[in-house]
Amino acid sequence: MQEDNITALTAAVRGSVITPASPEYESARKVYNAMIDRRPAIIVRCANVRDVRTAIDFAREQGLTVAVRGGGHNGAGLAVCDDGLVIDLSCMKSVRVDPATNTVRAESGCTQADINHAAGGFGLAVPVGVISTTGIAGLTLGGGTGYLTRKYGLALDNLLEADLVLADGSFMTASAKNNPDLFWAIRGGGGNFGVVTSFLFKAHPVPQVFAGPMLWDWEHAREVLEWYREISPNLPEDLYGFLAFLTVPPGPPFPEELHLKVMCGIVWAYSGPLDQAEAAFQPIRKFRAPRFELVGPMPYLTLQSLFDALYPPGHQWYWRGDFLNEIPDAAIDQHLKFGSQLPTLQSTMHLYPVDGFPARIDRSETAFSFRDAKWSMVIVGVDPEPANAAKITAWTKDYWAALHPYSMGGAYVNFMMEEGADRIKATYRDNYQRLVAVKGKYDPTNFFHVNQNIKPN
Ligand SMILES: Cc1cc2nc3c(=O)[nH]c(=O)nc-3n(C[C@H](O)[C@H](O)[C@H](O)COP(=O)(O)OP(=O)(O)OC[C@H]3O[C@@H](n4cnc5c(N)ncnc54)[C@H](O)[C@@H]3O)c2cc1C
Repeated sequence: MQEDNITALTAAVRGSVITPASPEYESARKVYNAMIDRRPAIIVRCANVRDVRTAIDFAREQGLTVAVRGGGHNGAGLAVCDDGLVIDLSCMKSVRVDPATNTVRAESGCTQADINHAAGGFGLAVPVGVISTTGIAGLTLGGGTGYLTRKYGLALDNLLEADLVLADGSFMTASAKNNPDLFWAIRGGGGNFGVVTSFLFKAHPVPQVFAGPMLWDWEHAREVLEWYREISPNLPEDLYGFLAFLTVPPGPPFPEELHLKVMCGIVWAYSGPLDQAEAAFQPIRKFRAPRFELVGPMPYLTLQSLFDALYPPGHQWYWRGDFLNEIPDAAIDQHLKFGSQLPTLQSTMHLYPVDGFPARIDRSETAFSFRDAKWSMVIVGVDPEPANAAKITAWTKDYWAALHPYSMGGAYVNFMMEEGADRIKATYRDNYQRLVAVKGKYDPTNFFHVNQNIKPN
């Protein structure tokens, strides 16, 4: 890259231009998953929409590959590329909450914590995921499942409008009224169509939740799974519980006798009226008493950040997922086999409920297709130590291969590594061809291809 071009780009943007010669280059190229080690030629840390347009125009003119970074949490590391240009949105974090309309306008560098800290000040919440450091951009464009999904839908079901910059540098707003085909596609189709610069979300009154984990000894894991698969879809929609296999961290709040034990847990979140929480938990209380529990009232933002410390950035990650609408006995056998062999302290398996509100939306209404699923399963190998990368990867792949035959055949796009075109097609099912057509209209040269790529015709 010619020095003059970099100088001109630097002068043209309000944010900063980072190259391998910049002191902050090593930290700026890192993403959440330390297994990803890519070296872009240029990182443009955008300050505003104009910077995004400038960066896109520059990359197009120079023939550079472009990666787009929201929160940088993507497991496959699709926020960074080798040799090309990264459009880094992480400094674009403005949030405006409108309590008159219960809406939140957020720039696309926001994390979940950024928007729900602001919304929480008005007793409001936007439905997002379970770790507050995750970026809202990648999360929403792929789906966005979390504690409020059964009651209020996926993050993308709460998207009212988005501003985008397209591959030709033009600016566009997508909503039900404006460019509805683009609006349809970005609700599940990821970053394939342009760079979203801001999102307008519907928010909901969720000042407090009654929530937290319950843990059972591993010897009862089969019984917990058999009970959970029946009860979870039959609970009222303001009661959500994701199931997890875990190794108990060796520290507070867990009692010493549980430290480092493999256990089966459910993290509950009740978002109805607090004075009715105990009554809502009655069906759960009828089941075997947990060995440990920490369920109680807390702000939604506290719940969302409950597990942040367990999963800081910079660890090795390898994950695989699938959607499920049943958990047959034979699948439980495999879960117990692999769950008892968690390879490291932070490795885990989660079943996130996606039934309830999302299922009432027709699967042709947004690009997100698996509205008939009951759970989104993710198997995650995690460890701080790079030497354990092969071990956690092998465990995840073997576990996934054993469970895949009992799945619906496709995965949540945000829980995929780079797994090939067939897996992407399986994610979108009968929405895939329509996505190809929209891609052909808005990004005919496949300029945005560092993503779970949908190729134009
Ligand atoms: C610890 C952890 C917990 C998670 N928990 C959940 C959960 O509870 N629920 C859930 O649904 N998911 C969850 N996820 C998955 C998460 O949704 C994805 O990793 C998602 O890609 C993160 O978005 P991001 O903006 O941080 O990602 P990035 O890595 O920045 O980007 C991801 C993809 O989106 C594209 N992209 C990013 N920003 C834009 C933009 N503004 N415009 C266009 N394209 C863009 C990127 O190019 C890339 O392809 C979790 C991930 C982690 C690591």
